[in-house]
Amino acid sequence: MSTSNATLQTTAKTKILNGGPLPTVIAGPCSAESEEQMLQTAQELKKDHRVSIFRAGIWKPRTRPGMFEGVGTVGLEWLKTVKEETGLLTAVEVANTQHVEEALKHGVDILWVGARTTVNPFSVQEVADALQGVDVPVMVKNPVNPDIQLWLGALERLNRAGITDLGLIHRGFSTPNNKPYRNHPKWQTIQEIRSLAPGIPLICDPSHIAGRRDLLETVSQQALHLGADGLMIETHINPDVALSDASQQVTPAGLDRLLTALDLESERVAQPEQLQDLRSLIDKLDNELLNVLFLRSDVSKRIGEYKRTNGLDIYQANRWQQLLQNRLQTATDTGLDQDFVKAIFDAIHSFSLGIQNEVFATQAPGQPVSQVQ
Ligand code: PEP
Ligand code: MN
Repeated sequence: MSTSNATLQTTAKTKILNGGPLPTVIAGPCSAESEEQMLQTAQELKKDHRVSIFRAGIWKPRTRPGMFEGVGTVGLEWLKTVKEETGLLTAVEVANTQHVEEALKHGVDILWVGARTTVNPFSVQEVADALQGVDVPVMVKNPVNPDIQLWLGALERLNRAGITDLGLIHRGFSTPNNKPYRNHPKWQTIQEIRSLAPGIPLICDPSHIAGRRDLLETVSQQALHLGADGLMIETHINPDVALSDASQQVTPAGLDRLLTALDLESERVAQPEQLQDLRSLIDKLDNELLNVLFLRSDVSKRIGEYKRTNGLDIYQANRWQQLLQNRLQTATDTGLDQDFVKAIFDAIHSFSLGIQNEVFATQAPGQPVSQVQ
């Protein structure tokens, strides 16, 4: 497949980035649900000076009909009130001509094309045609499937329609095995799209990558390490009752904690050279390592429950041999020392067996297997 670079005409001064030293933060609910929900969320977000753009889905593209499909145009009125009362810039997803026209009529500042629209060149072209001659920033989410050319093609279609303030949103991909993510980040695609579309701001959407609150920090951290220019994080005044994506949304207070934990400023240090910088990088990587080990131990527990319920032995010799061979091969490919990696996996495996033994010892027979997400 040929992957020629896009020749995109871009604006010198983008509205998508905040122009300051910190990454841009876009926050707001997955969906607009009511005027109170929008205003209460926005008023809280306004107090956090790291947040500059308020997002809300007005029309929701749902996989199955009958799920909450968005409030429609009335939500744009609420968004207008949010803008008037907080001064935050506003952003919505558009997928067809009517969406574009309505959003522009209501003074929305920034539009974005969703992952389910980017997959379809007919739809992207329709949006581009509706935007012909309009001066508005447009961000493009990566397509649901990991096809970087579709992502690039959407930028080109919009650019040909005269849109020069363009942005990219990395929201992860649907792959055969997304676990533990909702959408696999395939981190190398950040570098790939950057080299194909240089100079276009790239925002990471950890909410749709993670699909759950407890992974947001690790995902955001990784994106910032890779040089993302900003984050889009779904934020709801009361996430537990959200009509869409409840498990991945945070409260404004949760967003505050998350952004503080990320230490946004130091993430943008280009190449750490001083020992102190290198040590803080090691600290962060170790944190990520521990997070992954925690996630792995949780999976071990679920495997233990499955084996217990289905009468399987805890220790499965073939599986262990295959796993070890595979990890040692990966170690060789990556340039890591085999003995080092073997010692680590011996420890990980015996810890995992310990967890499963505990499940067998404490769980009553016939107890159902915990829900596998
Ligand atoms: C969203 O941002 O709420 C959304 C629908 O995201 P995506 O297009 O990434 O699935
Ligand atoms: Mn969502």
